[in-house]
Amino acid sequence: MKTVEDYIRTIPDFPHEGIMFRDVTTLFADPRGFRIAIDQLLHPYAGMQIDKVVGLEARGFILGGAIAHQLSKGFVPIRKKGKLPARTIEQAYTLEYGEAVVEIHDDALQPGERVLIVDDLLATGGTAEAGIKLCEKLGAEVVGCAFIIDLPDLGGRAKLEGMNMDVHALCA
Ligand code: AMP
Repeated sequence: MKTVEDYIRTIPDFPHEGIMFRDVTTLFADPRGFRIAIDQLLHPYAGMQIDKVVGLEARGFILGGAIAHQLSKGFVPIRKKGKLPARTIEQAYTLEYGEAVVEIHDDALQPGERVLIVDDLLATGGTAEAGIKLCEKLGAEVVGCAFIIDLPDLGGRAKLEGMNMDVHALCA
């Protein structure tokens, strides 16, 4: 029986030389693969109160939408700067070369809401850290960060666990 990992392909040198790009489109395209990925992402949170699912652009939207539907909860996107139409708050973070900025609508989460953050892959943890900070700026409590893939050598898990975050990933 295929595991989640078996549905993911690795594309060498994309988008830059030296990057091993983990392509989850093959996982999403397979009905069984997609279903077991969503089920396994949710497994540790069974019985836990989650008020909103927050997805990180862009593959976190696909996962987060499916998870929110499964939980019968709302979905909230965190997007790259300039994409969200209403009033936002923003958070800058460091990339390998330079800086990026992500945003959330300032009314997307209410103080005290318990949120689950979702993305496809955890590398340096910069994107997820920025997402956590945005949720916390709005007064929400991040109860977990769930990923399909964790690349632990890049330090993301250590960074998030250093912030006392619960990190859940399906494969490395
Ligand atoms: P980071 O902020 O360094 O943890 O990077 C995580 C974000 O970049 C996620 O949204 C991923 O989709 C994307 N990403 C980083 N490295 C890879 C990789 N090797 N393959 C696919 N996506 C990646």
